[in-house]
Amino acid sequence: MRKPRAHGALNHYADRVTSADAMSATDSSNEPTANGDIITTDVLVIGAGVIGSAVALECARRWASVTVVDTRGGPGYGSTSASSAMVRYHYHHFPEAALAWEAGARWQEWERYLGVVDPAGMAHFIKSGGLVLEGPGYDLPRMISHLRELGCPVELLDAAGIAERFPSLDPGKFGPPALPQDDHFWADATGELTAFWVDSAGHMDDPQLSAHNLAYAAEQQGAQFLYRREVVDISTKDGRVGGVLLADGTRIESPIVVNVAGPWSAKINGMAGVLDDFIPKTQPMEQEVISVPAPPGFRLDDGGTCVTDPDFATYFRVHAGNTIIVGAMEPECDELVMLDSPEDAIGSVRQSTWETQTLRLARRVRDLGIPSKPSGIIGVYDLTDDWIPIYDKTNVSGYYVAIGTSGHGFKQAPFVGELMAELISAVENGHDHDAEPLAVTGSWTGVTVDLGHFSRRRSVTPQRAMG
Ligand SMILES: Cc1cc2nc3c(=O)[nH]c(=O)nc-3n(C[C@H](O)[C@H](O)[C@H](O)COP(=O)(O)OP(=O)(O)OC[C@H]3O[C@@H](n4cnc5c(N)ncnc54)[C@H](O)[C@@H]3O)c2cc1C
Repeated sequence: MRKPRAHGALNHYADRVTSADAMSATDSSNEPTANGDIITTDVLVIGAGVIGSAVALECARRWASVTVVDTRGGPGYGSTSASSAMVRYHYHHFPEAALAWEAGARWQEWERYLGVVDPAGMAHFIKSGGLVLEGPGYDLPRMISHLRELGCPVELLDAAGIAERFPSLDPGKFGPPALPQDDHFWADATGELTAFWVDSAGHMDDPQLSAHNLAYAAEQQGAQFLYRREVVDISTKDGRVGGVLLADGTRIESPIVVNVAGPWSAKINGMAGVLDDFIPKTQPMEQEVISVPAPPGFRLDDGGTCVTDPDFATYFRVHAGNTIIVGAMEPECDELVMLDSPEDAIGSVRQSTWETQTLRLARRVRDLGIPSKPSGIIGVYDLTDDWIPIYDKTNVSGYYVAIGTSGHGFKQAPFVGELMAELISAVENGHDHDAEPLAVTGSWTGVTVDLGHFSRRRSVTPQRAMG
């Protein structure tokens, strides 16, 4: 059923949650309570992360009834809660750069995009900029060419330019990346790096609140969020999805089901019986992001920025509380921690990760103090073989996926919601997306994204890291 453009009924709102165990801020007042209930809805979204909530918002703008189910106690408690929330636009593939560019415009005007102010507070875009250093596997000229095609201003920097703009950074070339146990790690620089600078890049200050803002906006459009409810089965009949079964016995009947379950995506696809329909597979991968004190001159309000450093295979950015957070870019020398289930992730940062990442950072950032006690967070990605997300239909009619977003789906979320809503709308109206992939033009920047790039049927070149 297509929705009239008027807003739906407002749902109950409570104060913002601060822990995964608290009642959800967006728990809908009209949710069913008894086992064995049957709910009917036009669109059912599995997962209330930043992308699931964005899909819910854009679907609620188009369909009369949208229901979101999440196992956790509120929006953004999956991968989203651990996200570094960096918003950058450089990619090796143009469709991903275009997607990020259009989404970035929405992050930068967050309140205008949402059309509401969340009483729990609004997440903010911090224009901390983005410095991209050269390094193995990073084709800077190709990325710069995509950025220029998008109309994104880019400034080229040589080593002197890097040092002048960021005196805290050593522009020496130390790569290829190695572990501190390797003698090569401690060798002097073999040359100097070049880089490019994107002034309009940055990060969102609170990834979980960003998801909350999206979920709240979706509720204002009439979407209903059901928290602490687990999808345990998906029903199909004659090649078409019929709905889902929840662990408490509730059935939700829906002609459209969207899998946005993050690192649980393969499990959900298994329930729908579509695993063999996918050429790129998805699997959970553990990630550790460490946190260290930032030295004066490289702080949030004092000269710091977001840095992509393939020479040491790290990315890092300034963070609140005068800290720097640091994540890995999966070099060959580092072990990938693939999981059978996201629940298998460890509880705290490993000593070995702490040592490797702090030492890498200390070789790049001058005057870095390294505390003896490890600090950081553990997250889980939903990884594809080629690190490219899957935004697609499937061979079960009415069953769609926005999955495999690896370590870079956060930034894409505000446009992915619209891409998915447009895709669902087109396919449900008879468009053959497999034969003729849909292209969607972003209303904020005018860039067009070819959804064929994100197909579940694409040929895959396995790789170690995103780019
Ligand atoms: C450490 C780390 C750093 C990152 N840094 C960045 C970054 O800097 N920039 C960037 O762009 N991206 C980054 N990412 C990636 C980004 O965070 C993810 O791509 C994004 O958060 C995925 O959002 P999502 O909504 O798809 O999934 P999630 O946030 O994982 O949400 C999925 C939801 O599905 C629910 N669910 C699962 N199974 C069921 C079920 N059976 N029934 C009901 N509900 C279910 C879960 O409870 C969960 O809440 C990072 C990720 C990690 C882990």
